[in-house]
Amino acid sequence: MPELPEVETVRRGLSPAMVGATFSRVTLRRPNLRFPFPERFAQRLEGATVTDLARRAKYLTAGLDTGETLILHLGMSGRFDVALPDGRNVSPGDFYLEGALGNAKHDHVVMAMSNGATVTYNDARRFGFMDLVPTLDLAGCKHFAAMGIEPLSEAMSPESLALLFRNKITPLKAALLDQRLIAGLGNIYVCEALHRAGLHPELPAGILAKDDGRPTMKARLLARMIRDVLTEAVAAGGSTLRDYAHTDGGSGSFQHAFRVYDRTGEPCSTKDCGGTIARIVQSGRSTFYCATCQPAKPGKPAVSRA
Ligand SMILES: [Zn+2]
Repeated sequence: MPELPEVETVRRGLSPAMVGATFSRVTLRRPNLRFPFPERFAQRLEGATVTDLARRAKYLTAGLDTGETLILHLGMSGRFDVALPDGRNVSPGDFYLEGALGNAKHDHVVMAMSNGATVTYNDARRFGFMDLVPTLDLAGCKHFAAMGIEPLSEAMSPESLALLFRNKITPLKAALLDQRLIAGLGNIYVCEALHRAGLHPELPAGILAKDDGRPTMKARLLARMIRDVLTEAVAAGGSTLRDYAHTDGGSGSFQHAFRVYDRTGEPCSTKDCGGTIARIVQSGRSTFYCATCQPAKPGKPAVSRA
């Protein structure tokens, strides 16, 4: 499943084909993905010009000059194949999927753009979806109304972490994965950020706030590490979790920078730590951490953090 950096990689890959272009012809090859397509979906898109392509958490939002916004969610296996006017074909972000190139029988939506590009949505498992909402209602629409803060925006700060997590006894990892608090963080990047901050994933989330609600040093460190790890992952084009025979769009490389994720039994990469990466299961999902530099008792880091 793509996480935020992978979705951001897809956004950057799609932008040249879509932004500033008008939908010339939209073809739906089935009535639904995870949900039915909106009413008159193709007609509402045809003739509309894409004014911007943005991202909110793991959703892409294409602003249209008709006053509507096209919301795209990739689900588990959604991908875009882009045929550019110059004859090149790119599949931005196809690296996060298991398997090789998309099978054409899963090409569900074909969007011909006025600039000559063709954008095809392929989704073998069909957990992805598309929706159209009035742009003025975007923040309050059903997809975004209950969504937490954007981790790469100014809203994500030591102060906001402290406010969100104050008095919570929920384990830090679970609180960070709660999309109603922070939207778009997933298993990989939470494990990596906690390791960089030297915080054990089972510590109570409330340790990020002082009694008066102001952020602790741990909150300051964690806010910085969340931002760092996501920024680095975006710069690396996301993470490739499977080996591929074909990756036309080029693959992400951040998996080479993982310090704990999927590294059980390997030595910790923190300088002078000497610990070993361990795996535990929290809420049914694997957590990877180093018990030496992420101690279970708060307050005494085993190694100094540069
Ligand atoms: Zn360590």
